[in-house]
Amino acid sequence: MSPAKRREFFKRLQVATPKPTTELAYESPFQLLIAVILSAQATDRSVNLATPALFAQAPTPQSMLDLGLDKVTRCIRTIGLFNTKARNVIATCRLLVERHGGEVPDHREALEALPGVGRKTANVILNTAFGHPTIAVDTHLFRLANRTGLAPGKDVLAVERALLKNVPDEYKLDAHHWLILHGRYVCKARKPECERCVVFDLCAYPQKHSPGEKRVPPPRLPPAKARTKGAKARKGRQSA
Ligand code: SF4
Repeated sequence: MSPAKRREFFKRLQVATPKPTTELAYESPFQLLIAVILSAQATDRSVNLATPALFAQAPTPQSMLDLGLDKVTRCIRTIGLFNTKARNVIATCRLLVERHGGEVPDHREALEALPGVGRKTANVILNTAFGHPTIAVDTHLFRLANRTGLAPGKDVLAVERALLKNVPDEYKLDAHHWLILHGRYVCKARKPECERCVVFDLCAYPQKHSPGEKRVPPPRLPPAKARTKGAKARKGRQSA
């Protein structure tokens, strides 16, 4: 995708959603950090259903420690992987109190040293809580960057680097939220809704479909095992 098309791509997403933000409910960087830790492999909706009761009892790292592992676990038991997440929340709160005076640090190394916090979570906190122009690549961004040709890459780090290079500076701060919302509600994994996509003409996806056109599903690949077998058979025939 050319630089002019990339600029137009974000201009249109901006017109569609002038003030994008996270769908997670929070009232402080600490609450955002906990909500993002809880959202790993879970929906924002499931997190938002559980966190009001949790944050009412424990709005700070020290109060979360005082609440204790059992009660934290009980508050988040409706969220996937809640046992592991509860342990990470308590361990993270301990480090926040011991190393950072109960505050969420606004630099990457310190964030990634917290239990349950990887590069993606650190990027979300740096961007949404502290206003850094980072771009967290989740499943939606990875798919969208590759499908559209905006920032192709074979893994999340490659896509993150390509996005940081390709997204015009004036759109970097909000790029993560625009792309996540577009991927979540329009450019969906199985059935992208191309007929109502504002960047339809800019998108390089070969399987995109225009309004009124019959949707052609992408070709289905056989399971990985079968592909491996087929490749071995072909190799055998070639070497015979
Ligand atoms: S045209 Fe279709 S495939 Fe391309 S970004 Fe829009 S919804 Fe996604």
